[in-house]
Amino acid sequence: MTTFPTVTLVGAGPGDPDLLTIQAVKALRRATVALVDDLVHPGVLRHLRRTARVVHVGKRGGCASTPQAFIHRLMVAEAQRGETVVRVKGGDPFVFGRGGEECDALRAAGLQVEVVSGLTAGIAGPAAIGVPVTDRRHTRGVALVTGHTGTPEGDPDWAALARCGLTLVIYMGVMRLPAIVDALTAAGMASDTPAAVVGRAHTPAQRQAVCQLGTLVDTVAAQGLASPAIVVIGQVVRAAPMWREHVDATVACASGAIGATVIAAASRGP
Ligand code: SAH
Repeated sequence: MTTFPTVTLVGAGPGDPDLLTIQAVKALRRATVALVDDLVHPGVLRHLRRTARVVHVGKRGGCASTPQAFIHRLMVAEAQRGETVVRVKGGDPFVFGRGGEECDALRAAGLQVEVVSGLTAGIAGPAAIGVPVTDRRHTRGVALVTGHTGTPEGDPDWAALARCGLTLVIYMGVMRLPAIVDALTAAGMASDTPAAVVGRAHTPAQRQAVCQLGTLVDTVAAQGLASPAIVVIGQVVRAAPMWREHVDATVACASGAIGATVIAAASRGP
């Protein structure tokens, strides 16, 4: 029986290498060539053999990028040369990671594909500040959506999302946040809907803030929160310990009892 070379798509999780799965570690140990995205924590690569060749193929928004077609060709070429190829992707390979497209390209070239799931930032990020994205006391579920599609036609239906009652977890949303908040508000989402932002979750540079839909844009600007970050909008944010501090600070500000502001309360580190 002919065996076709296999390429493994490995989800590296949101940051902290301790969040790798055991399957991910095993795949990394086997690899002779690793194609690595730029959101992958460098500590993840410690599981590679010393002799493994590492190719960085990151493409962050606004930065020089490696064309997707080049990544496809490189994976195929290396696997066909007999290398054991891992494609290491931040979070989960199938959540806004182009993992589906990469599988198609590999299969079209006659290769086999294995997918090792990883913890996605949209769930592990909120969890890092105590937000359970499907807390049944607040919601029936969660919508994982992209804030950055490149074309207005490709945008999520923000009006429908504003009314669906699901927690909204927005990836790649920081740059387009003013437009997103406008669209949600125009569709009737209350401006006091709880919201949170977690930047660089599960890394030493993690930053977070809680606020409300109506203060989200100003909070992100005042805190200097930037990509990569996850935005969560919904009542589930109330479960975060930071939410209590936020409410206390808001009440104190309103009563003039103390000089603390919402922003100051939200700026606490992890
Ligand atoms: N496949 C990845 C998502 C890739 S899209 C996953 O499953 O997590 C890239 C976006 O993911 C970023 O713009 C940001 O919104 C989010 N992201 C990735 N890592 C993150 C992290 N450590 N903290 C916060 N957001 C992160």
